[in-house]
Amino acid sequence: MADLNKTRNFGIAAHIDAGKTTVTERILYYTGKIYKMGEVHEGTATMDFLQDEQERGITIQSAATTCVWQHTRTGEEMTLNLIDTPGHVDFTIEVERSMRVLDGAIAVFDGKEGVEAQSETVWRQAEKYHVPRICFVNKMDKIGADFEFSFNSLGQRLGCNAIAVQLPIGNGHEFKGIIDLLTMKAYFYDASELGSKVEEGEIPADMVATAKKWHHILVEKAAELDDHLTDKFIEDENSITDDEIRAALRKGTLALTCHPVFCGSALKYIGVQRLLDGVLDYLPNPTEVPDVQGTDPRDADKQLTRPHDPNAPVAALVFKVVSDSHGDLTYTRIYSGTIEKGSRVLNATTGKKEIVSRIYEMHAKDRIARERATAGDIVALIGLKNSITGDTLCDPDDPITLIRMEFPDPVISMSIEPVSQADRDKLSHALSVINREDPSFHFTFDEETGETIMAGMGELHLDIIKTKLVRDLKIPVNTGKPRVAYRESITKLAKARGLHKKQSGGRGQFGDVTLTVEPYTEAQATEDELKFTDEIAFESKIIGGSVPKEYIPSVEYGIRQTAKSGVLAGYPLIGVKATLIDGSYHEVDSSQNSFEMAGSIGFKEAVRQAGPVLLEPIMKVVVTTPEEFLGNVTGDLSSRRGLIIDQEQRANTVIVTAEAPLAEMFGYATSLRGMSQGRAAYAMEPLTYRSVPNNIAQEVLAAGA
Ligand code: GDP
Repeated sequence: MADLNKTRNFGIAAHIDAGKTTVTERILYYTGKIYKMGEVHEGTATMDFLQDEQERGITIQSAATTCVWQHTRTGEEMTLNLIDTPGHVDFTIEVERSMRVLDGAIAVFDGKEGVEAQSETVWRQAEKYHVPRICFVNKMDKIGADFEFSFNSLGQRLGCNAIAVQLPIGNGHEFKGIIDLLTMKAYFYDASELGSKVEEGEIPADMVATAKKWHHILVEKAAELDDHLTDKFIEDENSITDDEIRAALRKGTLALTCHPVFCGSALKYIGVQRLLDGVLDYLPNPTEVPDVQGTDPRDADKQLTRPHDPNAPVAALVFKVVSDSHGDLTYTRIYSGTIEKGSRVLNATTGKKEIVSRIYEMHAKDRIARERATAGDIVALIGLKNSITGDTLCDPDDPITLIRMEFPDPVISMSIEPVSQADRDKLSHALSVINREDPSFHFTFDEETGETIMAGMGELHLDIIKTKLVRDLKIPVNTGKPRVAYRESITKLAKARGLHKKQSGGRGQFGDVTLTVEPYTEAQATEDELKFTDEIAFESKIIGGSVPKEYIPSVEYGIRQTAKSGVLAGYPLIGVKATLIDGSYHEVDSSQNSFEMAGSIGFKEAVRQAGPVLLEPIMKVVVTTPEEFLGNVTGDLSSRRGLIIDQEQRANTVIVTAEAPLAEMFGYATSLRGMSQGRAAYAMEPLTYRSVPNNIAQEVLAAGA
């Protein structure tokens, strides 16, 4: 069993193109070499291994890969669980699930571009989940790469306390090694040996002064992180040891008050081994993160925590399900306790018990069967039948529900059909499998039109699913135009009665309620802008028993069912609070069913009178553009009903932050490329729902009807 002090669960947070895949491949290559120690893996054999890896696209498929790394300085062997993180912000859910289970991350940046629009988004997501980060300024071999510029952009654009622990030796074609600012040694790499040959040497003479300057900054900044070192620094800077600096940086990184910065070129095999050392030196082990929190499944108000202890009751989180020829692989992070092979666990989310028939540690090339998995481990379980992403697995005698993952509702949908009718069943099976793997993807079959509709988090999300169907599963499909997932809500208070009465011989039906509905908005809502919550709230103010207690849940159920399709065009209602205020019942004829009907009728009527409105998803859009295209970009955003919130100048580029309706943003990637000669970049994520302007609402409603 792995020593927890020597385990790291980490991921790579980077926006698309920064080099996440290449860094991952290098990590698997170097750690694979260690793993294969004792075997001859030289020259072409190593190349073959790499190629094989690339062809099979392992890095993309595995939700978590276990590898072993021997620290260059200390010689200790460590277990690394590398968790796959998405590169595109469209997949909010993927980000959420990976951030939940990793303890630390490497943030990768492009050494020429520095911090880009999407890097900011990814960085903020990591910030939201309190994930400690070290930074890797990649692509130092690229022409125009500029370490100092990239390093400065970390502080300027992310507002973080970045601390350089390395400097590159040379740039672009001249890039050949790294200076370690702690030990003040230089390391020269030989790319022809895939970076496995590293020579330690003296800092080149022309860089000594620069390195000294950066070393001084490093010591000073490290000293600021620790009071004891602050005093020492004032007395005699040189009395601070390397280990003290490392300890201070580690403390700061765990507390999220600093981020050590490394550099290199994944492509040219430079710097990745030292970056792995950095993962061990600065990122937390599983016992160094706060105890996991949850609630009692029998009483949601009762807060519980579980320690990082193999002997404590089991608490684990399912973070990805992948259908595999051997059955579903259920990727699970164990926070506390021990899961034995063949044992039973309770799925606290579904309330059902499950049998864990096998436990695997997933490596890049093979899987290793385990007898048990304990606190801190990330493994794939086999045998679970009804557990999906976000579910908690726990000890049946000591249940806990870990804080739920938030699954955002889809904002976009598209019709889909097989090219050949013969593939109909195959397609519907494939869609269910994808939905199991990715709960943010939905699909429905519309009986009336005979259409299958799929829905997801963005245009790219659905595009990738389409590619998966066509390319991987070999089901040719046609898809329709993307459609916006509208919502409906209300703008004022209204009251209505819902009476359901049928008395025609035999036992009748009788339910009678009076209820009010009102906008259910965020606290900071103003008259001008109602900030709708995405919920339907329900409260009962019945005290005298005018509606018997046992029927109140039925009224609520009727309301919630009805809220699934609004009164304007059948889009789901959000941001409505319903209050049951009065009613009456019949001794014989009243039933749960009758009150469900009454709730539904009353609610629908009240909503009709409450100024119903159509809402549309609004996206936050961040565009980074060279100054010369600024006019094009802002003009175009305005024509898309976008609201420019902020513009910030950075050197020759401008960062434009805007809020724009999703309905106007289809195909934005292509237009932006066109209007900026491919030089502007953007990031987009769902922000909120807002009411659709009247004239446009008319069109949407007419088209939907
Ligand atoms: P991802 O989208 O973040 O996974 O990025 P990839 O690893 O796929 O890299 C994107 C592109 O950048 C590819 O063309 C890579 O070959 C290239 N790339 C990655 N790392 C480096 C590097 O260190 N130097 C250079 N010059 N190119 C790199």
